[in-house]
Amino acid sequence: MARKMSQQGGGLPQVRVSKRGAERLQNGHVWVYRSDVAEAESAIAPGALVRVADHREKPLGTAFYSSSSQIAIRFLTPEALTPDELPKLLRKRVQDAISYRKQVTQNTDAYRVIFSEADFLPGLIVDRYNDLLSMQVLTQAMDTDAVREVVLAALVDELKPSSIVERVEPRVRELEQLPSRDSQLLHGETTSTVFTINGVKFHFDGLHGQKTGAFLDQRENYAAAAQYAHGEALDMFCYQGGFALHLARCCEKVTAVDSSRPALEVAEQNAELNVREIEWMEANAFDLLKDYATSGRQYDTIVLDPPAFAKSKRDLDAAARGYKELNLRALKMLRPGGVLVTCSCSYHVSEQALQDIVVAASLDAHRTVRILEKRGQSKDHPVVPAIPETGYLKAFMLNVI
Ligand code: SAH
Repeated sequence: MARKMSQQGGGLPQVRVSKRGAERLQNGHVWVYRSDVAEAESAIAPGALVRVADHREKPLGTAFYSSSSQIAIRFLTPEALTPDELPKLLRKRVQDAISYRKQVTQNTDAYRVIFSEADFLPGLIVDRYNDLLSMQVLTQAMDTDAVREVVLAALVDELKPSSIVERVEPRVRELEQLPSRDSQLLHGETTSTVFTINGVKFHFDGLHGQKTGAFLDQRENYAAAAQYAHGEALDMFCYQGGFALHLARCCEKVTAVDSSRPALEVAEQNAELNVREIEWMEANAFDLLKDYATSGRQYDTIVLDPPAFAKSKRDLDAAARGYKELNLRALKMLRPGGVLVTCSCSYHVSEQALQDIVVAASLDAHRTVRILEKRGQSKDHPVVPAIPETGYLKAFMLNVI
């Protein structure tokens, strides 16, 4: 088949998408999968800016292209943007992201500044921890020198951080066929700091830890959980103590469990920083809950915040079994009037699915649950409903009778 080398509209390579791909974009999504790319000029550079057209050659706008990801197109703008205009667009989006955070963050010097697609900067994550920024690049386009330069300069100008560290997920770079690189300092000199959310202090080390450091998406849920928590509390999957440290302000006793020793070491330092007594335990949550449930332990408050069990749709059944087991055991251990905070950060497990799992667990446990609050991720991780993948966290606060 003859390749059409149309250079219309600023000399950018053109990608023609299928009818389905075009509809996706017209419905407000920003991804086009490779299976919906009808025709692409040969040898488009990884991470290039491309012109997108529909199946009838009607121009749709400008996008970032990935030569390796299943998500071939990440849409940027309906305009026919030229490469010269890209820096201005990126800078404006960084500024918009920052002013949105000014509206929605209180009681914190740590929050997500840029949340990828939800800020129309697909493939870029930036978190702020006090005076330090942590940046993560997830796509070929965001990793190009030109884009990195613009983004860094905008962040430095707008937020004046003392340093910026880049956190690298080796698997993401592999999938995007990007050369491997280590997490590194990009600007300034320090890689660690102390940040404060809801008055609770946490250590942050930019070059270690999971994700970009802390689970900032739970920030508002920590405060909400503390409104209901009381008595003896158990924080399962505690990581560096996000929930536990908040619960310690309103509960008589807090036990917090994680299987990761490095996470618990930081958790312990965090407790010292806040002058709180918490019992930290290194254990497998499933084994421990089983032991505790069998030995008749009881609690007034239990938090379940496991890692994403369903990384893809294929894992859904196994994930549902995992969530059900945890919730069943927790419900059995709660005293009447107790509080269960149960979370799922699996995108593939919908809010309704989690609710169904909780209902099934409560029937098996012969307990009744009432919903205090159904919550999601903090507002600095905005959900764009037209891009459902931007919403992933569910956190139910339940009264258990
Ligand atoms: N609640 C935490 C975040 C939890 S992230 C916060 O708000 O900061 C999930 C945690 O589960 C990770 O710290 C991981 O180490 C831990 N984890 C994963 N599998 C586990 C298991 N089987 N038992 C106990 N902890 C586990």
